[in-house]
Amino acid sequence: MIKKTKILLSVILLLGVLTPVSPSLAAGGINVIESFTEVEFPDKLNFILSAESDSNITDVRLFMYVDRLSYAHVTSEVLLDILPDRHVTAKWAWDMRKTGGMPPGTNIQYWWSVLDADGNVLETQPVTLRYNDTRFGWKSIRQSSTTLYWYKGDKEFAEELISATITGLERLYESTGVGITDPVEIYIYANSNDLRSGMIFPQTWTGGVAYPLYNCIAIGIETSNVEWGLRTIVHELTHLVIHRLTYNPYLDLPVWLDEGLAMYMEGSLTQAFSDYLSQAIKNDTLISVRSLASPFSAYAHLSYLSYAQSHSLVSMLINTYGREKMLELLTVMTEGIDYDDALEKVYGFDMDGLDEIWRDYVNQKYLDQNNASVLTGTDRVLAVLALLPASGSL
Ligand SMILES: [Zn+2]
Repeated sequence: MIKKTKILLSVILLLGVLTPVSPSLAAGGINVIESFTEVEFPDKLNFILSAESDSNITDVRLFMYVDRLSYAHVTSEVLLDILPDRHVTAKWAWDMRKTGGMPPGTNIQYWWSVLDADGNVLETQPVTLRYNDTRFGWKSIRQSSTTLYWYKGDKEFAEELISATITGLERLYESTGVGITDPVEIYIYANSNDLRSGMIFPQTWTGGVAYPLYNCIAIGIETSNVEWGLRTIVHELTHLVIHRLTYNPYLDLPVWLDEGLAMYMEGSLTQAFSDYLSQAIKNDTLISVRSLASPFSAYAHLSYLSYAQSHSLVSMLINTYGREKMLELLTVMTEGIDYDDALEKVYGFDMDGLDEIWRDYVNQKYLDQNNASVLTGTDRVLAVLALLPASGSL
């Protein structure tokens, strides 16, 4: 669906004449007839301007500023292709398939500059456009600094999700000292197909995505799958908050720390993850911490194990060394020093040292579980596997 927003600029032009302003705002004989945008989410955003003047209009430019986290305030300038005439209509299509997409709710400020052959220049007042996914009828609910948008399911569904968000943020703060500083927006699509249809070139398995630069997350949650949704919302929210805190031009976080924090904030490990971890301990096939600093394997069993180990690593760091150390580590990670030096500086060991300490920790946990069992042989192993958490204490 295309949403058309019309902004008549003649009033703005009149104000420009009445109010003493900089010379660039002087309109001369130029009159903007209409300016509007068309949103074709997620692929395109069209900007259209019609203007007339007493002499030929020779130059039309569009200026845009996207409201997102960045290292510098960047204004884009687009020179539109027009034939000089006293009446021109200029159109520019922002093709997101070429530039990469933006999440729903992104605010874009834009304005026009029009020049005629007599040297008159009209610069319009900036207008803020909200780039919404207009294909769905969104409802919204707000709690504290979080706004949740959804279009399928009743209000209780939305309330349950936003409550999980608040609880997740509290847990994140209690565990790491990291809190949100800006309002967060959460878009709940009715399922993962709807979510992916709102993204540019998504991965086929994408179920949720965090947009740290835009302070926004989007997830596909079916009303019949709330339990998964509650965990995923906290997982993505943690990525969002941690990425904003550690935003830096030098290094991404090691993947085990990034994913481990997101998994830890979800709560205890689910049985499937827990089983992969206990099997790897038993078979001595744990992945090294150094390997887990890089993107995880695409093979499902190794990916499961990587997430489970990351959860365990972060659990150990927080529970053994405390939230202040974790906050310190995250802060140090933004300073451009490598992972080994960051760990050494905060904890006194590098990645290999962490690996050693953590292996002792999980092996001891595994032994404790074993010793708790009175069974022997195969029965004992099966019993331990059955008993292993859910609680994710590994
Ligand atoms: Zn994740």
